[in-house]
Amino acid sequence: MGRGGNSVATPPNPVTLPGYRLWEGDVPLLYPPHLADQAREVQHYLTQGTDVLSEVLAVGPPDATAMLVANEGWKNAPRESGRPYPPGLPYFTRSVAPPALVLPEELSPVFQPRTTATLPLAIWHELAHAFLLQREVVKTPAWLGEFLPQAAAVIVARRMGLSMSDHLNHIEDAPGLNVRGFEGRGEAGSQMLHQNLLLRFATAALEEFGEGFLERLSRALWDEDEIVDERRAEKLLAAALGPCGAEWLRSRPEF
Ligand SMILES: [Zn+2]
Repeated sequence: MGRGGNSVATPPNPVTLPGYRLWEGDVPLLYPPHLADQAREVQHYLTQGTDVLSEVLAVGPPDATAMLVANEGWKNAPRESGRPYPPGLPYFTRSVAPPALVLPEELSPVFQPRTTATLPLAIWHELAHAFLLQREVVKTPAWLGEFLPQAAAVIVARRMGLSMSDHLNHIEDAPGLNVRGFEGRGEAGSQMLHQNLLLRFATAALEEFGEGFLERLSRALWDEDEIVDERRAEKLLAAALGPCGAEWLRSRPEF
């Protein structure tokens, strides 16, 4: 979801929970022994995501750790704020060093639709945040900051042969919403509607322009050193999409 992007660096903490084991990998995974089977599945998605995103973004894997957190450990998971986050919502946090992808034992019921793609998309989304935040990123409109990981997740899904059309067909329509109305706040249900709109929009952009815009847009954002406002965000996206990018954006009702 939309946390972690604007966090301020805080002193390093040991990023583990009592009794957790470590699964080595490009992105190592901490998990409680009783969730070993689930950890295997998560590790599999992390490996797929790391391989694809390293190639697509032409950067190495992020220095980050993933944690599969058991329900009873959720309140002790690393995070920016003093209060535990709502259960079941994965997030990326730079409150620890190295930063952590925090993944719940069970995804919150707010995650809709439920298809074979739901869990891997959620993991690839958070992994993409870790990739993108390897370098400092200036503040951007929330929709742009969430569009990138949604597009990245769709790229991994497509390459892994997961059916995006099946997943997208199950998305509830949200009349009146548009991509740029997403502010990254508000209750989880409305955030999910926006995330799904972004997922649809990202899939359409990939079908129209191919995968190259993800790297172009990421590099453009890494190169920015002033806050990216709404106008600049649109301009960067249009340019990254390629020739006719601006016209295409204007033609999209959800944009
Ligand atoms: Zn996010």
